[in-house]
Amino acid sequence: MTENPFFKPSTLVYELPPFAEIREEHYLPAFERGMAEQLAEIGEITTNQEPPTFENTLIALERSGALLRRVRVVFQNQSSADTTPGVDRVDAEISPLLAAHRDAIHLDAALFARVEELYARRAELGLDPESLRLLERWHTAFVRAGARLDADRQQRLRELNAELATASAVFRQNVAADSNARALVVDSAEELAGLSPDEIAAAAENGRALGHDGRYVLSLKNFSNQSELASLTDRSVRERLLAASLGRAVATNGPLAIRMSALRAERARLLGYDTHAAYVVADETAGSVDAVDALLARLVPPAVANARREAAELAKLAAADGIEEIAAHDWAYYSEQVRQSSYQVDAGALRPYFELERVLRDGVFFAANLAYGVTFTERTDLVAYHPDVRVFEVFEEDGRPLGLFLGDFHARASKRGGAWMDELVTQSGLLGQRPVVYNNLNVARPAPGEPVLLSWDEVRTLFHEFGHALHGLFSDVRYPYFAGTDVPRDFVEFPSQVNEMWMVRPEVLANYARHHVTGEPLPAELVERMAAAEGFGQGFRTVEYLAAALLDWAWHSVPEGQEVADAEEFEATALAKAGLSVAAIPPRYRTAYFSHIFSGGYSAGYYAYIWSEVLDAETVDWFERNGRSVRESGEVFRRELLSRGDSRDALESFRAVVGRDPQPGPLLARRGLA
Ligand SMILES: [Zn+2]
Repeated sequence: MTENPFFKPSTLVYELPPFAEIREEHYLPAFERGMAEQLAEIGEITTNQEPPTFENTLIALERSGALLRRVRVVFQNQSSADTTPGVDRVDAEISPLLAAHRDAIHLDAALFARVEELYARRAELGLDPESLRLLERWHTAFVRAGARLDADRQQRLRELNAELATASAVFRQNVAADSNARALVVDSAEELAGLSPDEIAAAAENGRALGHDGRYVLSLKNFSNQSELASLTDRSVRERLLAASLGRAVATNGPLAIRMSALRAERARLLGYDTHAAYVVADETAGSVDAVDALLARLVPPAVANARREAAELAKLAAADGIEEIAAHDWAYYSEQVRQSSYQVDAGALRPYFELERVLRDGVFFAANLAYGVTFTERTDLVAYHPDVRVFEVFEEDGRPLGLFLGDFHARASKRGGAWMDELVTQSGLLGQRPVVYNNLNVARPAPGEPVLLSWDEVRTLFHEFGHALHGLFSDVRYPYFAGTDVPRDFVEFPSQVNEMWMVRPEVLANYARHHVTGEPLPAELVERMAAAEGFGQGFRTVEYLAAALLDWAWHSVPEGQEVADAEEFEATALAKAGLSVAAIPPRYRTAYFSHIFSGGYSAGYYAYIWSEVLDAETVDWFERNGRSVRESGEVFRRELLSRGDSRDALESFRAVVGRDPQPGPLLARRGLA
């Protein structure tokens, strides 16, 4: 066997991982050696006879674990974007070991003693602001991980973390397996009436790929509401599709969610907090449970009122089809009918104007160039982790190289649902590294020879994820701890949401939205009608989102020792109590497939999307009314916020751009909740 490619730093440009050499069997040995190496490095710090200094303790900590980082980022990406049964096995095996490894560092008494001593003397150390913050943040991380607990409590903490790590890997795999198992299979194209010929062809292709030759398969996407529900005319097919989606993983992940919520509650208690939500939010920009409660409570009543108004509109059209009461599987369909009849907008009619390649180059990249001056060159000579993946080199306005952007846009069976951004190489002055970031989307592959045409929502997702990518690419910090998107969770969606504004900026839209055959621009009045129609769906979208946010909040507000008997019952009660049980609007995710909170990093953090949207709406407002050119505004936003990562307080960066504390006004106006 050739040498494990993870053992040495990559020699490729930007330290791009050597994907051509990486095999599944390299992961486990690299994880094992990576953990051992880091523990040895920590051992050198703690056995150092010199008294602790910033250099021999904090800088040494920042430098430790290079091999582990190399394998972890590549593995994380593969397990999400291109998994295999072998990778799933490694994931299940390695997750508890990684949790134990983190504990071995955070609960290392000798290491914490050194950090604690430096922290006590921090005012005398003469540190620059970023270094001082590094010391403070590491100290907080140790304390929050249990460094101050006695040995018995630390032991229990280790057990809880290990069990949670395993549970979260199992949760993820259950969602993937059951989403595949419950894909909707129909026998005839007639049953798919309402879908476009392309979509029907894709469903047939999907059937072939999944072993249902001659039949049609609609794979399930992450959300409760499947996009096809908006156009399927056969009500019984809509009902089956939504039921398949809502029922995912209930049997396996329901009990697992109950167990995880109890484990997290116990851990929070050990660490001195009433609930997991209180523990999490203490280190976020929101700061307290009350602050989150207050924002959610303010949004729920007007959002529900909007949704009820929308429901009344839908009911009028549904009545004409003999439907007495709008069911959840009717909502998207009749919303689409309202859009067509009241706003003359047909979502399908927009697709020909949104060809992926054009949206990417003439929209997303074009906007980044307008605001920040950066340019993009495709590097077909560089090998990524899958043939679908595109690699672009990013350059500054003056031509200096900045980093790499990888785009992996298509759905495949080996990829989990949803869209996300992450980093393969983290920017850091200390380590001399420049960023390598990627975006993952789940755009359906068209029939062979057909162009890739996006929906309005997919265009938005492309701009959104690229906002995260820019946050990673523009990172300009010394310490890897602070790089790019490593900001508080209730702040991290803010830059990506801001980037969505370019999608509809007239100068950007005019540049990318062109008919893929005729080259004609998207008619301006169609865009206006689409924007008006967007307003119509706000009630639904806000309620669907708030229901998921409150569900997350409820699961993580369960105090230690409170038994939950049944996950579905818990869910129904929680939504009713919050005033959010609108029968025809299921939460964006139900408990059993709410991977964000049970296997992602968003436990007690799903509120973050609307929390960041307050900042986003304010910033979009600022871009429009600050009197500077787009390029100048972009420069301010980049310098004061995007480039800072977590190297200074997040809200301080916000204030440096907008000039004041965030106010909810622009968000309420945007969502029709004022
Ligand atoms: Zn995002």
